[in-house]
Amino acid sequence: MVDSHNIYFNEEHLLLRKMVREFSNEELKPLAQDIDKNSTFPKESIKKIADLGLMGIPWSEEYGGGGMDNLSLVIAIEEMAKVCVSTAVTVMAHTSLGSGPFALFGSDKQKEKYLPKLSDGTMIGAFGLTEPNAGSDAGNTQTTAVLKDGKFIVNGQKVFCTNAGVAGVIIFTSKIVEDGEDKGIGALYVDANTKGLRFGEPEKKMGWKGSDTRSVYFDNMEIPAEHILGKPDTGFKQFLKTLTGGRISISALGLGICEAGYQAALKYANERDAFGRKIGDFQSIAFKLADMATQIEAAKHLVYHAAYLKDNGQDIIKEAAMAKLFTSELAMNITTEAIQIHGGYGYIREYNVERFFRDAKILEIGEGTSEVQRIIISREILKSLSY
Ligand SMILES: Cc1cc2nc3c(=O)[nH]c(=O)nc-3n(C[C@H](O)[C@H](O)[C@H](O)COP(=O)(O)OP(=O)(O)OC[C@H]3O[C@@H](n4cnc5c(N)ncnc54)[C@H](O)[C@@H]3O)c2cc1C
Repeated sequence: MVDSHNIYFNEEHLLLRKMVREFSNEELKPLAQDIDKNSTFPKESIKKIADLGLMGIPWSEEYGGGGMDNLSLVIAIEEMAKVCVSTAVTVMAHTSLGSGPFALFGSDKQKEKYLPKLSDGTMIGAFGLTEPNAGSDAGNTQTTAVLKDGKFIVNGQKVFCTNAGVAGVIIFTSKIVEDGEDKGIGALYVDANTKGLRFGEPEKKMGWKGSDTRSVYFDNMEIPAEHILGKPDTGFKQFLKTLTGGRISISALGLGICEAGYQAALKYANERDAFGRKIGDFQSIAFKLADMATQIEAAKHLVYHAAYLKDNGQDIIKEAAMAKLFTSELAMNITTEAIQIHGGYGYIREYNVERFFRDAKILEIGEGTSEVQRIIISREILKSLSY
């Protein structure tokens, strides 16, 4: 495909893309099928990604980060997702969700303690917002932290926490109670070896098979009072801000999946014969490919533009939601059509497109469902009419 995105990319972006693309093809691609088949966490790949300095791409060099921008994170996630979504989501969740709140809302002391380890990959981060009865309705958080004698005593449960089983630190939301008074929802964090912290078994999932997803339980767990990011009542807003930025990264996963599906379909359409010609010669197949190419082009502009706006300090609530909504639904559409173009072989593991199809579905659900993205977008556009 013609690369018309150089309006967003500088020399460093292009070099990064080349490096991550080569690495992904050489190191991640050969492992992707086995990771999916055996649901294995890509531990060795994560070590190699850390060695390349890609576990803390957008965080300040002062705290061991890559000192790059959000567009660089998008580029890296997109390239990894083109070959192995499980690995890409591990890096994405670790960076945007499991490390981001420290970088964005941590005190100097908290940043000094956690960001260098998170950025060099010696520690993995996770982010627990969702609870059994608080998903889209995340404000319904039931986890409770009672502040007493300089400690929080925490009780509750988080579900579907990506990276939880491999994490060194978990950031989570909790109601904060002090002197019997509800102080709002705060963002707390806990080191993985803390007494009273318990992990569920890995979830058996449709896709993202190599990504670690499980419940986290807090049973009278004690953490120091300073294990809070910001103030007791700012946690929920911080999480919403974290999720807004995270939507750009999840869009990058979507882009990678779209491109993987499209490239596989394009190749197959040029190889497979039926009725004495290549199936790509049939207009119904060629038009599917034309639609895919056009929609991917549109998706790239949405995602790169949202990252560009974020890097330039602009409000991205609407743009990030649009990028996430569009790329996640497109990833489902393109992988569905990619299977169709492969005929029966598309349904068979060896051809990979069914893996990308299974890995795509959760993008319409995680970090705010498509319904929630439409609520955010409609709110933003209607707000602009109310003057
Ligand atoms: C593999 C995986 C990884 C995940 N990783 C994480 C993680 O790392 N951290 C974390 O905190 N969470 C994580 N999640 C949770 C994910 O973000 C939630 O599943 C998601 O936000 C939806 O919440 P829910 O499952 O409770 O669905 P619900 O909120 O119960 O939604 C059910 C349906 O109702 C619709 N709905 C709900 N409210 C409205 C409304 N107001 N208007 C219209 N429709 C509505 C939804 O769109 C959806 O279709 C993960 C989930 C999975 C499956």
